[in-house]
Order: sequence, then structure tokens, then C-alpha cells
Amino acid sequence: MTSLQAAARTDVGRVRDNNEDAVLCMDHLVAVADGMGGHPGGEVASNLAVSLLEAAFSGDSLKELESAVRAANRAVAERAAASRDLEGMGTTLCAIGVIEDGRLAVVNVGDSRAYLMRDGSLRQLTDDHSITGELIRRGELTEQEAASHPHRSVLTRALGCGPEVDVDGSLHSAAEGDRLLLCTDGLFNEVAEDDIPSLMGGAQEVRPVADALVEQALSNGGRDNIAVVVAEVRA
Ligand code: MG
Repeated sequence: MTSLQAAARTDVGRVRDNNEDAVLCMDHLVAVADGMGGHPGGEVASNLAVSLLEAAFSGDSLKELESAVRAANRAVAERAAASRDLEGMGTTLCAIGVIEDGRLAVVNVGDSRAYLMRDGSLRQLTDDHSITGELIRRGELTEQEAASHPHRSVLTRALGCGPEVDVDGSLHSAAEGDRLLLCTDGLFNEVAEDDIPSLMGGAQEVRPVADALVEQALSNGGRDNIAVVVAEVRA
């Protein structure tokens, strides 16, 4: 039976006062979420999203994981509407679940990312739902330019902004030893994509890999909250 050996780490960073990123780290489901909306909304939104995802996903199918994301969206939106303190809150949500046939179900809303590293090469499994992500897909901006673009954190999709949300979902085969990375923009805006493969392959265990990624983001500036989950596939 396919499962994940996973380690998560999140850090407030060097500039922010509170950490609005959240992580979920289980043997069949991993997730990161990057909340927004100020204190306390951002924290509430990201933590609510990952805990609802956990509650609603049993490992059945991609469809089940996608509907868990839609349920999380409704819950965040309802909570935001019910409290003045939480008005305008929202969150990204990016998750990978192992489903019954052993494949990986990947879901994403917002600009957090999932990567797969197989045989030393790294591939992003998700599209960023951000203004810069769309400009990159249209060929109008490079990845490098995006990291310092003034609109790099403006999202085109997020959880909690309305009763319905478009969820990107995809299925991927999994092989023993594949490594997965989930991360928020606090990681990929600080650590160049070219530097990620050597960090991902830098240790036998996943825990020191997660630590090394966060340490690298901190030493490159740590200008945002940072969240990473590193997982290895056990087939
Ligand atoms: Mg962020």
C-alpha cells in the first residue's frame, strides 16, 4: 500500500509578526495553506482549511479530495461572513493525497505549490493562481522576474472569497522514492527553483530536507511566512 513519509516545517520568517501559513502532515495526505486577511483572519483561514481537508478526505479518489477543498472553501467563506474580525479572510490551499489505487491526487487553489522530484529532476505539478503566474504562462514574464514583481502576491483565486471556487485537480503515478514538496510563496520567492533539487536530495530522511529548505529561505531574507512539507513515497 502506497503511503507518504512526510515532514513539515513552518516558520514566521524574519519580517512578519505572526505566522499565517499552516501545514498538514499525515501518511496519506499532506497540505500547505497561506492565509490572508490580517490578524487574526489569515491564521484562522489557513488552519480551518487544512483541518477541514483532513476531516473530509478518506483516501478514496481525486473527486473526493476536490470536493473536500470545495467544502473547506464554503466553511472559510461562512466563517468570514459571520464575524467582523474575520471579514475578508481567505487562504491558498495546495494538497496531495494518496488514493486507493496508489496514485497521487493533487489539488490547488492559489499560489502555493506542489513539486515532484523523480530521478533528480524537479517538476512543478500545479499552476500558480496569481497575476504573475498568469503572465508567466502567457510568456510575458520569467520565473526570475516574478520573484521580485510588485504584484507577485496578488492572487486570481483563493479559498474563502465566495460560495464557489474553481479547484485544479490532477492525478499522478507514484514510484518508490519519489520526493514531493509542498510549499508556500515564502519558500519559492526566496529560494531559486534551480537550488531546490540539491536541497531536496540533500539528506536520506525527509526531516533534515524540510529544515534545510526553510533555513535557506530564512538566510535569503525570510521576508514572508514559510511553510514546507517534504514527503517521500513508500510504494
Ligand atoms: Mg505567503
